[in-house]
Amino acid sequence: MEFRDLKAQYTKYKSEIDTAIQTVINNSNFIGGTEVNILEKRLAEYVGVKHCITCANGTEAMTLLMMAWGIKAGDAVFVPDFTFFSTGEIVSFVGATPIFVDVNQDTFNMDPIKLERAIIRVIEEGELSPKVIIPVDLFGLPANYNEIEKIASTYNLKVLEDGAQGFGGSIHGKKACSFGDAATTSFFPAKPLGCYGDGGAIFTNDDKLTELLNSLKVHGKGEDKYDNVRIGVNSRLDSIQAAVLNVKLTAFIDHELEDVNRVYKLYTEKLKDIVVTPLIPEGYISSFAQYTIKLKNKEERDTLQAKLKQEGIPSLVYYTKPMHKQVAFEKYNYDENDFQVTSELCDTVLSLPMHPYLKNEDVFEIIDALRSEFEAIK
Ligand SMILES: *Cc1c(COP(=O)(O)O)cnc(C)c1O
Repeated sequence: MEFRDLKAQYTKYKSEIDTAIQTVINNSNFIGGTEVNILEKRLAEYVGVKHCITCANGTEAMTLLMMAWGIKAGDAVFVPDFTFFSTGEIVSFVGATPIFVDVNQDTFNMDPIKLERAIIRVIEEGELSPKVIIPVDLFGLPANYNEIEKIASTYNLKVLEDGAQGFGGSIHGKKACSFGDAATTSFFPAKPLGCYGDGGAIFTNDDKLTELLNSLKVHGKGEDKYDNVRIGVNSRLDSIQAAVLNVKLTAFIDHELEDVNRVYKLYTEKLKDIVVTPLIPEGYISSFAQYTIKLKNKEERDTLQAKLKQEGIPSLVYYTKPMHKQVAFEKYNYDENDFQVTSELCDTVLSLPMHPYLKNEDVFEIIDALRSEFEAIK
């Protein structure tokens, strides 16, 4: 059994994917071109925004926005404490200071009340200027944009939606990657929409920002790439990756998003009486990058994970360490009391196999194993 079965997906779409890749090779146009243009158009349309700008990966997508917005030393950027390292890394990369914010214990996403408290504290301390909020759509569930966008407008901050795990989710029909001033996603193979290597994209309705990003991602190009009007980076999506994504986006829209939600319902129905199962607020849809349960404590979680492994059932812990405890951020001396929820989650969460090709009988096998191991260790 696989945690995320990419081979099952390839088997189903082999002929389309092989043809798409071969077409790029036949045309020998490996950077940019038709595949990338078509993909950007389709992605923007699916998400419901004016522009999609593809780039090399999800981390660079966020870095490009930091550059475009001129975020620099002396600026404060608010990032959830419970996320992948990248969300905080890109803040430090441009010299700004990441201010970590604790998350909600039920949704695992940035807690708006604690966000506002952190903003007020930074303003009162007077050393940094608050500039950007980066909510993360953790495990596929969109963050609480309703509240966060209100706070952003009160304090005049920009919002960057980190939708690396969130592509396909929605709130009352408004799709993930359409929130905030701009949003980003990742096409790393294990994400909800993944390619066959690294890839990423930025989404926005802002024409000027789009123009700037299209320059920054190609060495700050002006009229053409040998006319350089600013310092940029080299961050493009390969044509082969775009060709693969064009096939996979169709599958994602046709059935994959529904299929992960099928697995979610099966799991939750059969596990909610013994463990804490994911909470999906009213009107929200998750793209289930992960299906994550909560156990009582670290000992129970670790024992259960070891037992499942013995039965050949893979499970993973996202994340074992809060951002504020990463060695790379050591110099900031964060106050432990500000991150009680994240610290507890790092000890108690466990992610179970989750992907659109998980068959009902496999889900039942996982449920049975989990239930009997859980009874045994209780
Ligand atoms: C994967 C991920 C990223 C980074 O994406 P890459 O394409 O690997 O650079 C950023 N944020 C979150 C929350 C992620 O899960």
